[in-house]
Amino acid sequence: MSLLKSTGSTHRTAQPYPTGPAQRDKWILQRRQPKAQLNPSQPYAFLWEEECDAAKKPAPTSVIFLTNRECPFRCLMCDLWVNTLDRRVPPGAISSQIRYALEKLPPSKQIKLYNAGSFFDPQAIPTGNYRRIGAMLRGFDRVIVESHPAFLNGIRGERCLRFRDLLPGQLEVAVGLETVHPGVLEKLNKRMTLDSFQRAAEFLQAHRIDLRVFILLRPPFMSEIEGVEWACRSLDFAAKCGATACAIIPVRGGNGAMESLGTGFARPGLQSLERAVEYGLSLNRFRVLADLWEIERFFDCDCSAKRSARLRQINHTQIASTKVMCSCENKTNWGETSTNCEYRLPLPNVGDGLGGEGDISLLNQFL
Ligand code: SF4
Ligand SMILES: [Zn+2]
Repeated sequence: MSLLKSTGSTHRTAQPYPTGPAQRDKWILQRRQPKAQLNPSQPYAFLWEEECDAAKKPAPTSVIFLTNRECPFRCLMCDLWVNTLDRRVPPGAISSQIRYALEKLPPSKQIKLYNAGSFFDPQAIPTGNYRRIGAMLRGFDRVIVESHPAFLNGIRGERCLRFRDLLPGQLEVAVGLETVHPGVLEKLNKRMTLDSFQRAAEFLQAHRIDLRVFILLRPPFMSEIEGVEWACRSLDFAAKCGATACAIIPVRGGNGAMESLGTGFARPGLQSLERAVEYGLSLNRFRVLADLWEIERFFDCDCSAKRSARLRQINHTQIASTKVMCSCENKTNWGETSTNCEYRLPLPNVGDGLGGEGDISLLNQFL
């Protein structure tokens, strides 16, 4: 989820994007704006929403955006670092933040604890705080947290299991697959491969933990049509990995790095988001949720408000309602593949051309 306001930058001259991970880290960091000033004893945001549950019923949901130390990864498209700290929070701070938000929110059945990184990263959420956090979550049927695949396997995965054992409700972990396009996934600098994603999915499944998948619609280096096509292929892969819900996130700029790509990045249109969501629903494998955070930033036609309302309705019903008709449909030459979203392209072989354990060496610097 993107929480960064647009910088309003109109600078669109491409600056060469480096080829190596270390140089990419540096390039991405150099383009940052200052972070927000945050109080470690309070979440940086919280809200209440209704989300369609697996039974297609609206589930009252508390969403708490925890203030914690920044994620160790440096993804090209990420803007979540804005609302993070440079240091680890003091002991007990996370449970205090949860209490702070819950005292102000209406009752709910589900809770999302999103920490702009990985919940099972001990530098972000101190493990010593798990017991107290677990005690505060006793009344929830479902607890949803997010994590990079690197924390969902082997010894690191044990933290996830320890946390699961403290919850009477169902644990669900949201993992960013981003895209299954091998070249683009590598360029996103997430230090993740399709192999490591799939291993994380198997780990969750083996331990009765639900998987939610985040998929990017039109990440950098893709055209509008490719953006839809690869979102659909990513949905196929998420189905193969046993996802129970998929959130499709239209990629936004505004983090400095994305603007420096020049024409290498452009925001997708709402029609593309509708197409990807419709395709996901046609698979009939999981709930498909369009990420509508600051969706007004994607408005580009008189029909945009209607499209956004349609997507909101689809999120709640999981039924693809009547399409919005508008002449702007003709602006994109969707061609054969995208006029209906029922096409399927062969998936790349998992692991092909994606390198090995790029995530591990980086993590060892932090753990
Ligand atoms: S892993 Fe997630 S939070 Fe961390 S940098 Fe990448 S997108 Fe941002
Ligand atoms: Zn239109």
